[in-house]
Order: sequence, then structure tokens, then C-alpha cells
Amino acid sequence: MKIAVCEGDGIGPEVVPVARDVLESLRPDCEFFPVEVGYGKWDRTGSACTDDDISALKSADAILFGAVTTPPDPGYRSVLLEIRHALDLYANVRPVRGEKCDIVIVRENTEGLYSGIEWQEADRACTVRVVSRRGSRRIARYACGIAKGRSHLTVGNKANVLKSDVLFRDICLEEAARCRVPCSTQYIDALALDLLMAPSRYDVIVTTNIFGDILSDIAAYLVGGLGMLPSANIGRRHALFEPVHGSAPDIAGKDLANPVAAVRSAALLLKHVGDDTAAAQVEEAISATFARGIATRDIGGTAGTAAFSGALREELRRITRRE
Ligand code: ATP
Repeated sequence: MKIAVCEGDGIGPEVVPVARDVLESLRPDCEFFPVEVGYGKWDRTGSACTDDDISALKSADAILFGAVTTPPDPGYRSVLLEIRHALDLYANVRPVRGEKCDIVIVRENTEGLYSGIEWQEADRACTVRVVSRRGSRRIARYACGIAKGRSHLTVGNKANVLKSDVLFRDICLEEAARCRVPCSTQYIDALALDLLMAPSRYDVIVTTNIFGDILSDIAAYLVGGLGMLPSANIGRRHALFEPVHGSAPDIAGKDLANPVAAVRSAALLLKHVGDDTAAAQVEEAISATFARGIATRDIGGTAGTAAFSGALREELRRITRRE
């Protein structure tokens, strides 16, 4: 299995190698190759992501991705947006699992307010929010596929104000009825609050691009913060796995980064390729490390990235030897 590894910027090079090691220890058949993209590359070469980088990413069976910092260039387009579009990674899946919740946020990943159609005029700037029938149908179908094996679907929307969300909501409802998935709709602002007040009411949530992005950062509160949440970006041919958090330049290089989100992203990769056993072993190793009282500072512990990662590797070795 060929895995492209993009460490990226900021804390990416601190957390991605931990996730890579976890994959390597569980799947010796993995062949890793680095692809450099992001701010560091832009600074050195003037380009944050080249056509060759995109071709290299396309040649991989899966991509493990860290995070990229946005360069201070007004003409700059987000690397991650470019990759999501080029590889048509239309579904962004963000599981939020903790003591209080077991939720999967499914975010449309290629259109909405991140359409890339925007311009600046003298006295205003415009961004076009694109919601297409095809884009809505395929994300709705993907979310229903997940909800079918679980309990129910909630469509997060703002159809009371946005015509584009009337289309999105109606297609989701149609698709849920066709798949016989119990489904309800909720305005995104009310949903954001209710998610924190009554998380157990939610199972699978499907929503448009920016709403999904914001909602998953909010949901991070339920499980201890951004350092805990993984995500999968899925398309028909390609798949990329990355922590929900960004490059966090404020804590980069200080041994403060929590690698759990990156390691959980590796677990999602394992699940994606059908290795549920290895994915479960990763989750068990994380729980066992926490059970020993070892955690990074962002979630109330005292361990640095290196100490936490060492303990996690030990737990993983113990678990795999046992089986
Ligand atoms: P970017 O512009 O790349 O999105 P950012 O700093 O604006 O970066 P995030 O990286 O998502 O946004 O993080 C917001 C804050 O959350 C960070 O400044 C950091 O303090 C904290 N944080 C994020 N990820 C982690 C992590 N893995 N471990 C510990 N703290 C984290």
C-alpha cells in the first residue's frame, strides 16, 4: 500500500511522523513517500503545491496529511482546497467520539462558500456560494450510507435565509427517504448550540462546506479540544486523512502538540482500507495511554508530544503482542 505523507507546516512535522510510525508498525506492507507542500515550500520555491505534487498525491493509495500555514500572499489559494478539488475529495468525514457523544459530521468538501469563485471590487468583495444538485446528491448519499449502519441523519442548514440551502436540504431529505434513513433538519445556528447542550441527540450530521468546518471545531469542545479530532477526505478514487486542527504556529516546535488527532486520522485510513482490527488497536492504545494518566497539556495533562508518543507506541506494542 503506497502512502503519500505531507507533513506540512507548524505542528504538522511533529504530529504526522507519530501517525506514520503507528501505520508502519501495524502494516509493514505500507510504503511511504514524502510530498512537500505548504508555506515552507512556498517560502523556498515560490510555489506551495505544484502539478507534480498533485500527480504524486494521485499516485498514492492514501494520503496522510498534517496541516499547512497560509502564506501572506493576497493571490494565494489554499493548498488544501486545491488538493481537495484536484482529487475531487467531496466528503469530509469527521467523527466526534467521547464519553458524551458518538457523532459523525459529514461536510460537503468541494463547493459551498469554498467554491473558489470570488473577486474584489473597489468597495466590496464577493464570494459565490455554490450548491449544486450533483454535489448535494453525492454528499447526501454518502452521509446516508454512514447513517444506514447507525441511527439517524440530521441536515444542518440555513434554508430559512439561503436559497442555496433550500436545494441542499431538499436533496438530503429526498435521498434519506430513498435510503430509508430516519432524517430531520435543523438550522445550523440552533444546531451549533444544541450540539453542546444535548450531544446525545445527534448521530450523523450532514451539512455544507463552511458550516461543517465551523460545526466540527465547535464539536471539538465535547472531546477535549482540537488536538483530539481526526478527519477523512474521501473521493471516488482518492482519500486523504488529516487532523481537524490547523498548523497551530503558536505552539510549533515546543513539544506541546497533541498527536492524537493525527494518530486517529491514521486509524481512519486503516478503516478506509478495510483494516478494522488495526484501527481498533490504535483507538485502544490511545485509551490505554490516557488510562495511565499520560496526556498532553491541551487536554489537562503534563506530557510533551515526544513523551506522549513514546507511551502510545509502548501501548500499541503491548496490544499487538497480546493478539
Ligand atoms: P491554521 O491557520 O493553520 O488553521 P491556527 O493556529 O489558526 O492554524 P489551529 O491550528 O486549528 O488554527 O489551532 C487553533 C489553536 O488550537 C492553536 O493555536 C493551538 O493553540 C490549539 N491547537 C490546535 N491543534 C492542537 C494540537 N494538536 N495540540 C495542542 N493544541 C492544539
